[in-house]
Amino acid sequence: MMQIKYSNDSRIFNLNTDGIPYLSFDILDRLGVPNLYTTRYISYDEAAGEGVKGLRLAVMKDEDMEEAAPVVKANRDALARQLGSSIDFECITDQKHTNYVHVAAAEDLGFKPKPLHRQHVDGIVTDIPDVLLTVFGGDCPPVYIVDPVRKAVGLVHAGWKGTLGRIPEVAIANMVVRFGCDPGDMYAAIGPGICKDCYEMGDEIFDRFADEWSLEDAEHLLSRYPGGKFHLDLRESNRLTLVRAGVPEDHISVSNVCTKCNADTFYSYRARRMENEQAAMLVNRFGGDL
Ligand SMILES: [Zn+2]
Repeated sequence: MMQIKYSNDSRIFNLNTDGIPYLSFDILDRLGVPNLYTTRYISYDEAAGEGVKGLRLAVMKDEDMEEAAPVVKANRDALARQLGSSIDFECITDQKHTNYVHVAAAEDLGFKPKPLHRQHVDGIVTDIPDVLLTVFGGDCPPVYIVDPVRKAVGLVHAGWKGTLGRIPEVAIANMVVRFGCDPGDMYAAIGPGICKDCYEMGDEIFDRFADEWSLEDAEHLLSRYPGGKFHLDLRESNRLTLVRAGVPEDHISVSNVCTKCNADTFYSYRARRMENEQAAMLVNRFGGDL
């Protein structure tokens, strides 16, 4: 089995190693919603216990667009096809650490090596059937939101700024207003990202949470570690946001995989800066019977 260190024994993920390897959320798999979170691996041979690393899914700042774009496109299309979709239905975000959420429109769909920098959004929602939402992360967790009743989905990039700005709630509010969703029908999954033990922050983060959330929340979500630095619990912050937005607690799955603790298997910004990023993908399709 691929070497992944889990922070608890809960079975949150299924591991798929046919084609490009990825983790998928068991809670979303049971709803029949195609979903994934990638690793560093291009391929993995379970029998041999080894794989080929170096998967490229995003065009990085210092990369040559002409060289990188075709590779990135081929990899994203291969993953989309593994989910029964294709790159022609993909919509991606800007990844600007905002809490802005975009409602996907027909003209957004199709491969873009980089997002159109006209929106500055970190989340997307859609009720268009079969649309593929993709966000990227290499420590910042993605949050997947699905409504099997109204058949709508949302996917957000939740680094500390988006988390502070409650971006999952912004996505849910858009789904309620635009698509008539009820948060009580929704399911959500908080994807792999940096764990609290690894996530050292400056002192100002405590005041931001105390001001914009509450003192009680800041004390709950942040702790001063022996080194003297505050550490932020992104998983619990986003879980609280989902619960407060009305998603039932037993409809929420929280990742037990840290990208930095598993920096050999996942790209981690804190561990090795910007080599590349994982993709989180979610298709607006419901095939389960829950
Ligand atoms: Zn960690």
